[in-house]
Amino acid sequence: MNLSLKEIIDLDDLRELMLFFHEAAGISVGVMDAENNWLVSIGWQDICTNFHQIAPGSRKNCILSETEIQEYLAKKEYLTYPCPNGLIEVAIPILLDKAPLGFFFLGQFLHHPPDHDYFRRQAIASGFDVEAYLQALETVPIVSKQRIDYLMKFFVLFFDLLTRIGSENQQRHLAELEIKQAREQLESRVEERTVELNNALIEVGDLAAQLNESLKKVGQLAVTDSLTETYNRRKFDEIVVKEHHLANHGGAPFSLIMFDIDHFKKVNDKFGHSAGDQVLIHLSRMIRGLVRQGDLLIRWGGEEFLILLPNTQIEEAGPFAERIRQEVEREQFPGVETITISLGVAQLREGDSTDTLIKRVDHALYQAKQDGRNRVVMCSEL
Ligand code: GH3
Ligand code: MG
Ligand code: MG
Repeated sequence: MNLSLKEIIDLDDLRELMLFFHEAAGISVGVMDAENNWLVSIGWQDICTNFHQIAPGSRKNCILSETEIQEYLAKKEYLTYPCPNGLIEVAIPILLDKAPLGFFFLGQFLHHPPDHDYFRRQAIASGFDVEAYLQALETVPIVSKQRIDYLMKFFVLFFDLLTRIGSENQQRHLAELEIKQAREQLESRVEERTVELNNALIEVGDLAAQLNESLKKVGQLAVTDSLTETYNRRKFDEIVVKEHHLANHGGAPFSLIMFDIDHFKKVNDKFGHSAGDQVLIHLSRMIRGLVRQGDLLIRWGGEEFLILLPNTQIEEAGPFAERIRQEVEREQFPGVETITISLGVAQLREGDSTDTLIKRVDHALYQAKQDGRNRVVMCSEL
């Protein structure tokens, strides 16, 4: 990770530190980054800012070109540079893992009291106001080489510490940032997946509901007669097993009515098969309207039907059969006007099987036909 000086050192803190250093030591300080920007420059000497850096001749002597310093410092521990204008400057590279981030600069001082004649000649050569120039020279600090060496040793260690701590902090900060971003990405991915999953679950739920609905319909169709929409024999088997079981275990009684349209063959012959179908449909709808809730109308075959009457004694089933007979006799059937039916009635007895019960009710119906049709015969009368 390549970090710049600005990223690892707080510049405001650094400036404040350098300002205190300058106040205490009276020496100019500067910090330049690897892109040749002065991040800190404090206490520049008048002789430099007002004279050397102004006149074109002396200006180019001020410091080595900044790039040259960077290149030089990339190799050396620190650089002492007697500037051609007569002052001394020193610089050290600021390194992070041996890579240069910039340099620290101390300068614009002398090791020994100045040679006034030299500086007077220099002022004249550069066209400076000699008195003002010499006055500026008076403020240039004189610092022994040994003190500068100590200071630079101090600053080498100081910047080493600063860049190490700064870069560790910065790396930790960046790592935390990466972790945070990764966590956010993960969270949003989890959120997306949750939405997808929920949608999928809703879809599955819908499909399951549709399937359930379809299964119900299929189940219904399997026990329904398609022409009359009454139940078929399969439903009869289902229910009778249950009711039979109930009655045999001391449960409620249970009766059966079997009926058959009288001379239906003639109806077909006279009015046509589809008129006959309409009679079957009409009759079924009509009888569904007469039975109680819980009673079951079943098309036994052809024009023959069963009515299952749970919880019903034959004494109750007989009059009910008679009522049906009368209602059918009175009913106007579209296209054929009137028909009649014959009915047999039986109650489940102790020891009955489904077959014996059916046989008895069928026999009662047969008897009704024998007796002249359009009548009810109860098995108990036989
Ligand atoms: P009975 O009074 O003795 O019952 O006389 P019937 O003519 O009704 O008796 P039979 O059993 O001889 O004839 C029943 C007729 O019912 C014959 C058959 O064509 C007719 N049939 C059976 N199923 C259907 C049907 O689904 N539609 C129509 N239109 N006719 C049917
Ligand atoms: Mg018949
Ligand atoms: Mg018949």
